[in-house]
Amino acid sequence: MSSSHYDIIIIGTGAGGGTLAHRLAPSGKRILLLERGDFVPRELDNWSTRAVNVDGKYQTKEEWRDQSGKPLHPHTNYWVGGNTKFYGAALFRLRREDFGELRHAGGTSPAWPISYDELEPYYTEAEHLYQVHGQRGEDPTEPPASAPYKYPAVSHEPRLQQLSDDFERLGLHPFHTPLGIMLDERTRHRSRCIRCGTCDGHPCLVQAKSDAHVVCVEPALEFPNVTLLTGAYVARLETSASGREVTRVVVERGGAREIYGADIVVSSCGAINSAALLLRSASERHPRGLANGSDAVGRHYMGHINSVLMALSRCPNPTVFQKSLSVNDFYFGSPEWDRPMGHISFVGKLDGVTLSAGAPAIAPGWTLELMGKHSLDFWLTSEDLPDPENRVSLDRDGKIVLSYTPNNEEGHRRLKAKLEHLMGQQSSCPIHGRSCHQGLFGRNLFVGQRIPLAGVAHQNGTIRFGNDPASSALDRHCRAHEVDNLYVVDASFFPSSGAVNPALTVMANALRVGDHILERLGARAGADTAQAMTAGAVA
Ligand SMILES: Cc1cc2nc3c(=O)[nH]c(=O)nc-3n(C[C@H](O)[C@H](O)[C@H](O)COP(=O)(O)OP(=O)(O)OC[C@H]3O[C@@H](n4cnc5c(N)ncnc54)[C@H](O)[C@@H]3O)c2cc1C
Ligand code: SF4
Repeated sequence: MSSSHYDIIIIGTGAGGGTLAHRLAPSGKRILLLERGDFVPRELDNWSTRAVNVDGKYQTKEEWRDQSGKPLHPHTNYWVGGNTKFYGAALFRLRREDFGELRHAGGTSPAWPISYDELEPYYTEAEHLYQVHGQRGEDPTEPPASAPYKYPAVSHEPRLQQLSDDFERLGLHPFHTPLGIMLDERTRHRSRCIRCGTCDGHPCLVQAKSDAHVVCVEPALEFPNVTLLTGAYVARLETSASGREVTRVVVERGGAREIYGADIVVSSCGAINSAALLLRSASERHPRGLANGSDAVGRHYMGHINSVLMALSRCPNPTVFQKSLSVNDFYFGSPEWDRPMGHISFVGKLDGVTLSAGAPAIAPGWTLELMGKHSLDFWLTSEDLPDPENRVSLDRDGKIVLSYTPNNEEGHRRLKAKLEHLMGQQSSCPIHGRSCHQGLFGRNLFVGQRIPLAGVAHQNGTIRFGNDPASSALDRHCRAHEVDNLYVVDASFFPSSGAVNPALTVMANALRVGDHILERLGARAGADTAQAMTAGAVA
């Protein structure tokens, strides 16, 4: 058994933990990063749809259970950089209204303890840090921003531009998806990103995706005060006799048990694993789980209501990089229905190999291969509401149990219907005009697939922050109400989920909490100077 004390321990290196490490590294404080995974191996399989989507090569082999006790194989990834190694890098801000109470068809989406304006400067910083490419002013629902995007929007390939034109003609406001990829379209021969078709869901073989590993963890490790241990699974957090501070971080590494300690301990394991860690850390002082006097830990699990919808056309869709287009016109509703519906965007281009894993119903007269060649592959997101019965718990063997009953589905149903109707109105195909889109004739050629429970990509909400310790586990700084030196900095803190992808909010919040921690440690000035020096050196 070895023992060592640090100023700060961060558990997990994804969007939350990685970004926080980047913020704290210049402070000179001794920082230990504990990551259960290893570095993603750089190999050709990174870009193989068979290895990634069919064989699940990089996915955890862990088995969880659903509420009826059935085994669940979660689509989640344990590596340095966390799930950002695999994400689609669509980096959205929540809307300003998402921070207040919003009435939905299925109930009320609760307000956050902080306002949009408090997070705004950190959104801007996070966008710059993660090199987000975008164009302000196109999305009618976008919240105010204090600075433009630093990098130009990723252009549409011809089929997507045609769709965008059609949507505009129909009165919509399609916009360029804000994307964290290091694409330089002006000097393509020098661009780190090669604009390939295997971005969403895949690791980037050439490390041109702005993931937490490349953008945050590697630069943080340049500082001599930052140490990373991989293969370091945090099994349990133990407290002092008073229960007021974490004193021992119990790690399983290479078959041995190691104990670490720190003045500040941050759990950034992702919403499901952070909740599981606190629940596993139950003790006499914290009988329901660490920092869980409120009984909020593990509850209010949200994961968005997501569907992949393939719209089949008579013309092929030769798009390579498909994630460039989004539509938010129905985010808050429509003239006929004044309740939120959600967000429309794209997944990476699907191919026959990937489709064989998802096994959608094959449209009459089509093969999977052909469907992959002719489809526009939409990704629809609607907000699910925080229900205390939708939760993470542990079974008798300590295995994760994920209980989830979908809610607030009417908006999503209407969003799908909207898209179906819009696709029927397409007319700018120069060969087939309106009849290019097979749905025009009322045949059900839309193959809708709701993402199943194992699809936990957008997991959030399980350790909500709030002002009231009776109904939340974390305070407004994401510090546990009941444990002075424990913070949770990942997607756990969301009191509501909005209907856009969560990662940028996780990153922005990590920067915000990072500033609070620096302030608390009296290390702000040092960190600012070091950061300015680093920025100067790079520029
Ligand atoms: C295929 C896919 C596509 C996605 N696309 C997008 C997108 O386009 N845009 C977007 O905004 N979001 C996207 N997401 C979601 C996004 O990746 C997550 O919202 C984000 O990564 C969450 O950050 P996090 O810090 O909460 O958790 P993670 O990034 O998952 O990081 C958690 C880390 O903790 C580690 N860990 C867990 N338990 C322990 C333990 N006990 N001990 C030590 N370490 C531990 C894990 O290995 C991991 O590194 C996508 C996700 C997936 C899977
Ligand atoms: S090269 Fe570009 S498009 Fe391809 S995976 Fe990397 S970041 Fe994504």
